[in-house]
Amino acid sequence: MNERKYEKPLPEVTPLTKPFWDSTKRHELVVQRCKSCGRYIWYPKAWCPFCGSRELEWAKVSGLGTVYAATTTRIVAGNSPAWGEELPYTIAIVDMDEGFRMYGRVVDVKPEEVEVGMRVEIYFEDATEEIAIPIFRPLEKKK
Ligand SMILES: [Zn+2]
Repeated sequence: MNERKYEKPLPEVTPLTKPFWDSTKRHELVVQRCKSCGRYIWYPKAWCPFCGSRELEWAKVSGLGTVYAATTTRIVAGNSPAWGEELPYTIAIVDMDEGFRMYGRVVDVKPEEVEVGMRVEIYFEDATEEIAIPIFRPLEKKK
């Protein structure tokens, strides 16, 4: 566990996103599912982007997915210098097994080894007492 203070930007928790962040704090992943059409929705929304229903529920998901696209950052962004320590780092858009798409950082693998079609799983980085950040890692590399 990294005991230094977490200095990267933290998400803003709103009433809409609170169930999601509450779940990551438990090291679980819940996303919205539409009660009308059954599709999973990420990121949190007030209504279903597929059918317009406002009848959404929170459902636990596997945290497993397949890389759809990835990009590697090699220079630090001006507004978040704390990311400089992580360079280079890779962000992937992941097709989750439940049919929604989510993005996040991919760790425990060299940037050049992150490939489209690679299987990944979510794990959670405890940033603060209140926030755990979902991060992807290769499915093969269990710790
Ligand atoms: Zn729907």
